[in-house]
Amino acid sequence: MIEHVQITQNVLQYIRDNSLRDSAVRRELREVTATLPDRKMQVMPEQGQFLSLLVKLIGAKNALEIGVFTGYSSLCIASALPKNGVLTACDSSEEWLKTARIYWKKSGIANRIEECIGDARHTLKQLLEKKGGESYDFVFIDADKVNYDQYYEYALQLVRPRGLIVFDNTLWSGRVADKSYSDPETDALRALNLKLLSDSRVEISMLPFADGITLVFKC
Ligand code: SAH
Ligand code: CA
Repeated sequence: MIEHVQITQNVLQYIRDNSLRDSAVRRELREVTATLPDRKMQVMPEQGQFLSLLVKLIGAKNALEIGVFTGYSSLCIASALPKNGVLTACDSSEEWLKTARIYWKKSGIANRIEECIGDARHTLKQLLEKKGGESYDFVFIDADKVNYDQYYEYALQLVRPRGLIVFDNTLWSGRVADKSYSDPETDALRALNLKLLSDSRVEISMLPFADGITLVFKC
């Protein structure tokens, strides 16, 4: 029997009405993104707020994001950092970053964001060489799913002990649980979820929130 509360449209609206602390800039960025064909890639507003909370909880000063899109999750992460904090924001697409920059600026946090444009596998290798291991407190992984495991291995080196790595979309609309379903992204997420289950380097919690969020705490 399923004991989790069913998140109907009505319950979701309740969550938003009773817990979402919004801002005009965030709303505007959501509205602009909602006009794009890839709009579903954006984190949900309550998920953005959750990312902000996690960043504050661990007292992160240096954060890393892999997969920026129009910059909503970056905005939530960067806003939660102290004034002298830095978010390294990685994406392969320059096009979407143009939108992101407008809203980072409007929010007054653009100076906390360091952009890295290019394939994140290459960027992470460079960051490791340049900044060294254990140079980040918080990592949010939300780019192409087939490369999640590679991002994970880099993130584990880049994050400090007792730092946090957060994966988005680990339930992949529930497809990971449908044995009859197979495609490269679903298979990659299944393999990652299974690997995390027995990875003694970390503590984990898979949350049935939004499209599945896995929290990975480096021991
Ligand atoms: N976190 C964002 C959504 C990210 S969508 C938000 O909440 O709004 C996934 C992003 O990953 C896209 O912007 C895409 O350009 C980027 N991406 C895909 N493959 C990539 C790669 N190999 N390296 C870096 N970024 C990549
Ligand atoms: Ca996502």
